[in-house]
Amino acid sequence: MFGQMQNWPLLVSKFLDHAAINHPSREVFSMLPEGGEFRYNYAGLSDRSKKCAQALGRLGVTLGDRVATLAWNTHRHMEIWYGASGMGAVTHTVNPRLFPEQLVYILNHAEDKVLMLDITFVPLIEKIAEHLTTVKQYIILVGRDHMPDTSLPNALCYEELLAAEGGTYEWPVFDENTACSLCYTSGTTGNPKGVLYSHRSNFLHTLLALSGDTLGITALSVILPVVPMFHANAWGIPYSATAAGAKLVLNGPHHDPETLHMLMIREGITTTAAVPTIWMGMLKYLTATGKDCGKMETVTIGGSAAPRSMIAAFQERYGVRVNHAWGMTETSPLGSLGSENAAVQGLTPEQKLDVQCKQGRSVMGVEMSIQDEEGNKLPRDGKTSGRLMVRGPWVIDSYFKSETSALEADNWFDTGDVALIDEYGYMQITDRSKDVIKSGGEWISSIDLENAAVAHPNVLEAAVIGVFHPKWDERPLLIIVPEAGKSVTHEEMTEFLSDKVAKWWLPDATVLVTELPHTATGKISKLTLREQFKDYKLP
Ligand code: ADP
Repeated sequence: MFGQMQNWPLLVSKFLDHAAINHPSREVFSMLPEGGEFRYNYAGLSDRSKKCAQALGRLGVTLGDRVATLAWNTHRHMEIWYGASGMGAVTHTVNPRLFPEQLVYILNHAEDKVLMLDITFVPLIEKIAEHLTTVKQYIILVGRDHMPDTSLPNALCYEELLAAEGGTYEWPVFDENTACSLCYTSGTTGNPKGVLYSHRSNFLHTLLALSGDTLGITALSVILPVVPMFHANAWGIPYSATAAGAKLVLNGPHHDPETLHMLMIREGITTTAAVPTIWMGMLKYLTATGKDCGKMETVTIGGSAAPRSMIAAFQERYGVRVNHAWGMTETSPLGSLGSENAAVQGLTPEQKLDVQCKQGRSVMGVEMSIQDEEGNKLPRDGKTSGRLMVRGPWVIDSYFKSETSALEADNWFDTGDVALIDEYGYMQITDRSKDVIKSGGEWISSIDLENAAVAHPNVLEAAVIGVFHPKWDERPLLIIVPEAGKSVTHEEMTEFLSDKVAKWWLPDATVLVTELPHTATGKISKLTLREQFKDYKLP
């Protein structure tokens, strides 16, 4: 017997309709790549998103067509998210930090019909345009007065396109399982792979993101999603901010601590989210200037492990609670988040910090399990680590255009992370399966070593990789970027780490470098480091 309630398709356009009706005057603010700022509200976002949908329709875009964006976090990018997906096309967010060959691969593989790009990226695309086999139309996201001279064939001006539309438009209604958006993983191994989200998966992910135990976004929130819209959907914030009617502040192309801090204070930001690298710069800026975090209540940190010293600094010095979150492109991305539960509520501040260094509890809707190589479930005892497996309605089923399932038995998706889960349900990433250091048959966690190393006052950034060792197969090498004007020796690091990790984990050597290589999503590129140090001879 079926229930007898309405079949109201879960479409992302519903968020925008809701905001336009219930929060029409709530502000949406954006910094612009061509310079300057723009401020309007959800009524304006709704109106212009509809015009965007009408303009795309006029250009021949129909249901299922891919519309690529190469854009910063701006109000125009929001309009395309709603305009393209709302009309039934697929918004494909492309990461501009990828190598040109990867961009060509991704745009051709996705068969993007339209490419909508910020003025910043015009030179980049001009260089590869001749290799883009499916793009029929380029649209540059500026007004006429900023249209560049470009070799891109018959490039159109976004503001002119919108100005030609009336905006009287009803969002079409279609099956909630229709494809909504597309995002490629950065392809640290092999070619990038496309993750194709549905309206339903994005809708359910948004409802979850709004919950108090997750991002806790409400109508009173003022939110700055520093994490780019091309990095795992800005962790769903563009949708959840709209769904809640929160004030939305978009930083455009600016990621420097000074601009972010200016926005934080001037716009009254209460919550924000980004990878640790951004917050490392911000904390340095706050220390150097003696400034504070204004009205900030929470900061969500994820994408790679948030070091203990970073969590402590935000909470103890600035009174800003840290949400340490874990997820991946394949999980939309929210998988777990470290909000408190009753079991840890009574712990001491130090013990709570220990818990917060873990990657959090699985959010409702994402099932998690730790399994061995044969798929046997391992105990949730806080000690046994294994392959982190997930499943749920916003977890991938198969990669875009792939004929085979991405899943193992019982629909479990192998995240490629190695983790443990403690008795309170908090998951801890101990490594990525390909980064784990295998020393004499035992595993050493590169992440634990890195976290311990960055707590040293003279260390700005640290990475640990396994290098060849004749007896143990692999031993850890510590690679450090020291704080400006500071230095540190291998002996000092060994001494510093010796009460923080097991003795046999202590790195065999320490190398100082001026910078570490980062991937397109701002993570330390272990792949590049392994290549750089492949002939390194341990002492
Ligand atoms: P990419 O591999 O393209 O960078 P993702 O952004 O999807 O793509 O990366 C997901 C991976 O990032 C996870 O599988 C995990 O290894 C890592 N990660 C995400 N959040 C955390 C976190 N809080 N702590 C440690 N690792 C994390």
